[in-house]
Amino acid sequence: MLSIEGLVAGYDRLEVLHGLDLAVAAQQAVTVVGANGAGKSTLCRALSGLIKVRAGSIRFDGQDITHASTSARVRAGVIQVPEGRQVFPQMTVLENLALGAFVHGAPRDADLDPIFALFPILRERRDKHAGMLSGGEQQLLALARAMMSRPRLLILDEPSQGLSPKAVALVADAIAEIRRRGVAVLLVEQNLALATAVAQVAYVLENGQSLTHGPAEDILSGSLVADSYLGH
Ligand code: ATP
Repeated sequence: MLSIEGLVAGYDRLEVLHGLDLAVAAQQAVTVVGANGAGKSTLCRALSGLIKVRAGSIRFDGQDITHASTSARVRAGVIQVPEGRQVFPQMTVLENLALGAFVHGAPRDADLDPIFALFPILRERRDKHAGMLSGGEQQLLALARAMMSRPRLLILDEPSQGLSPKAVALVADAIAEIRRRGVAVLLVEQNLALATAVAQVAYVLENGQSLTHGPAEDILSGSLVADSYLGH
């Protein structure tokens, strides 16, 4: 479904990704792990079109989106939940969810029902300001808002950041369920418990390239991952 070949991207004179290859199959969750600065967030930005691709290609569902605009990617179903959640604290849960639906016009109850089925806590909190939610609930809201955009590929940049182990477990359950509903997931994650709970395939990123990839359970329990984390 997603196929990245020889991806080169960076900022001004800094090249961060030096020819990255990566693939995500339909209905698959792929996790990308690696030390700080390996280029994980840069990969997310290049995928969602926030930074320009300098060389290589990104294909999504057979379509070349290497140089497509962010909005064209969103319309194609490539939706990113950025690092740090970024829900709007002064807006209610419902208002935050409505923002996720803007791609398709105003949300109807028919759009909200499956979302609330997936995130029952948000139904209870629907009229609360997002800023009043716990960190874990805000992350669920960020996921739910992304789901309102009807993604076909969800890009998640460190959804565990700043969350308690209990909240991480809730987020892991939600992501696993999203994948079971047929959405492919690319998960950048330092939290191995979350990555292991969700992903079928793992890539280890080092210095802007893929060092290795394979079945998530093998890669995430292997010494390479331990080494790349010790390299912090
Ligand atoms: P982390 O877990 O710390 O976010 P990461 O693997 O996501 O690590 P990136 O954020 O992709 O790494 O950063 C890769 C390199 O790009 C780093 O050297 C970083 O300093 C640099 N970098 C990241 N964002 C920018 C930016 N907006 N402008 C310039 N350089 C940046």
